This record gives sequence, C-alpha cells and structure tokens, in this order.
Amino acid sequence: MNWKLAARAEKMNPSVIREILKVTERPGIISLAGGLPSPKTFPISAFAEACAEVLHKDGQAALQYAASEGYGPLREAVAAMLPWPVDPAQVLITTGSQQGLDLIAKVLLDPASRVLVETPTYLGALQAFSPMEPEAVSVASDDEGVLVDDLKAKAKDARFVYLLPNFQNPTGRTMTESRRAAVSAATAEAGLPIVEDNPYGDLWFDEAPPLPLTARNPDGCIYLGSFSKVLAPGLRLGFLVAPKGIFPKLLQAKQAADLHSPSFNQRMVSEVMKEGFLGRHVPTIRALYKRQRDAMLAALEREMQGLGVSFNKPAGGMFLWLRLPEGLDAVALLPEAVERGVAFVPGTPFYAGAGDPRTLRLSFVTASAEEIGTAIAALADAVREQLAH
Ligand code: PMP
Repeated sequence: MNWKLAARAEKMNPSVIREILKVTERPGIISLAGGLPSPKTFPISAFAEACAEVLHKDGQAALQYAASEGYGPLREAVAAMLPWPVDPAQVLITTGSQQGLDLIAKVLLDPASRVLVETPTYLGALQAFSPMEPEAVSVASDDEGVLVDDLKAKAKDARFVYLLPNFQNPTGRTMTESRRAAVSAATAEAGLPIVEDNPYGDLWFDEAPPLPLTARNPDGCIYLGSFSKVLAPGLRLGFLVAPKGIFPKLLQAKQAADLHSPSFNQRMVSEVMKEGFLGRHVPTIRALYKRQRDAMLAALEREMQGLGVSFNKPAGGMFLWLRLPEGLDAVALLPEAVERGVAFVPGTPFYAGAGDPRTLRLSFVTASAEEIGTAIAALADAVREQLAH
C-alpha cells in the first residue's frame, strides 16, 4: 500500500541521535543519556498494598470508564499539595505531563503561531508542539533562565511562553527568585500566557526552589505537574492546573485524546498518597540523587582537569549540562564515547533554533555512583582523543 501521509507526518523524522542511542541498550554501555528515574526509588511495596486495597474496596469503579477530569480524591490531593490556593475543579489529571503538553498544543497553537521557548528547552515539548506546526522561537537564556528583555521583545502575538523554572531538562538550571519576579511581571504586562512545566520541582537537594510562576499569577498560567519523578513514570500520571478561561477547552481535548487517564492507576496513586506518604518518600529520592550528583561532580572535576570542559552544578533534578572545549562537537563525540562504553545526549536537539554543538546532557540518576565514575573517565578519554585530532 502506498500510504499518503499528512504533511505533519512527513516532517516527523527518526532522530539520528535516537539511532545512535539504540546502541546504548547493548550490555556493557553505561548510559548517562536517558531521562529515566532510578528504579530503586519506585515504592513497589506501597503500590502492592494500594493495589489490593483499591481492588478490594473499589474494584468495580477502578476498572470502569470514568470522568475525563480525573478521580475526585486525586484532584483534591493534587490541589492540596500545591503551594498556592488551587480549586480542585481547575485540576485535570493527564496521562503524564507529556499529554498536558499535547493538549495545550492542540488548544492553543495554529500553524505558524509563535510559541516562545527557553534556550535550550525540553525536547519532548518541542516534539509535542510540532504537529501543530507552530513557529518555536528561542528566547535568549542564561544560567538563571530566560532573559527578560528578550522575552519582552518577542512577546507580541506569541500564544504562550513555555518555561521550566526548576532543575530544567536538559540543563539542570533553576530560575532565581529575582528572575521569576521579573518574568512574572513582564508576562503579566504583555498579556503573554505562561505554560509552566515542573516535573522536577520536588527533587531539590539543599533547599526548596522559589515559588512557581503560576503561584504569582494563576490566571495567566497553565501549570504542569507529574507523578513520574516522585512515584513512577510507568503509571503515566500527571496533571495540569488551568484557569477557568481555558480549562473547558483542555478538558474537551483530553476527552477526545483518551477519554480519561487510567482509573485504576489514579485510585492507586490516591491510595498511596494517603497519610503523608510523599512527605516520607520524596526525601529518600532527594538524598539518593544528591549523592549521585556529587559523585558525578567529583568524577568530572577529577577526570576533566585541564581539558577545557565546563559544567554546571544543578541544585536538584536529574541532569547536568556540560560544554566541550572549543572545536569539539558533541554529535561527533558520541560514537567515540559509545565505543568506550558511555552514552550521553548531545545538546543540539534541545534547541528550537541553531543549537550550541559543544553542549551535552548527562543524567546522574540512572547509573550507580560507581558506574558514573567509570563513565566519566571514559568520556574524558573520548574528549582527549577528539582533541588530539
Ligand atoms: N516535562 C519535562 C520537562 C520532562 O523532563 C518530562 C519527562 N522526561 C516530561 C515533561 C514528561 O513527563 P511525564 O509525561 O512522565 O509526566
């Protein structure tokens, strides 16, 4: 059959990087590439108990079709855990926050609509937006997030700005309090809506990040949250909080997409979250990820000495951003690194515009601290090899 593809499908290309990264599934490769939470943090026995309880107490409803908005008690629990007053009626349970991005794109973007993004930004958001064929415009950013002057200059007629203030994917950077205040004031003045994506906000190491942008102007923001990093990504559960002016449209888009997120999973999460479970569980994730970050920083300092490599020190989350010395290219380095048993993600796919070819993303949570040491030594070897060319 000769399938006639939609124009948008013609634009979907298997990424070269994904092809290279397939190799990383080979045994013996230490992958610092994936965005996978550590499976050690998945609370399996709490889920086993919750599963039995849900089936016993509420089995028929848990296995039945349900409302598109989500399971009432879970919406209430989400509203209660957010650090600003949220009406549970404004909470929409989604099939991961990735679905939130898809619904927002469907509801707010036309072909050629301008959507403002950070430099660099979350690749999965660019992928979720792209079927609507918008123009993704990169806002100049530094290690505190978007630059307010550039944001103001590009705000006119943009449908929204997509921001990741906490432990950003891919850079691990965090927007400071003063930058948040300035971004919040500038977007309110320009009438520019914010889509705030915050899957990593709870994974801070030494101190909690400043208040979300949404808390400062709930009427001008759609907020995305996720259970993937604090419970488990396989549940595919996230949520969005949207103001009254846009909530009904997002709900309609949700209905059309998948009717509702799995009733059974929603009830299990609601059950697991009872009696302050997250308050006990999340600190154990923070402690583990902090140790892993420290192992990666120590390895980088040891192994990269004198190579002209620079990197940041993320205050939370899962990722660290590294910049290679002048003349090196992360895409060209990747096969060299894989050859030596380590994989990473080159930075360029994370940019809406031209990317910085010297950048790359490292995850410090999936590999063990010992593996991280071995992997960074191998990466330093690959850098040395490339520098010698
Ligand atoms: N946003 C960001 C910034 C992410 O890093 C991720 C996960 N990689 C998602 C959204 C999607 O997460 P989920 O659908 O599992 O909630």
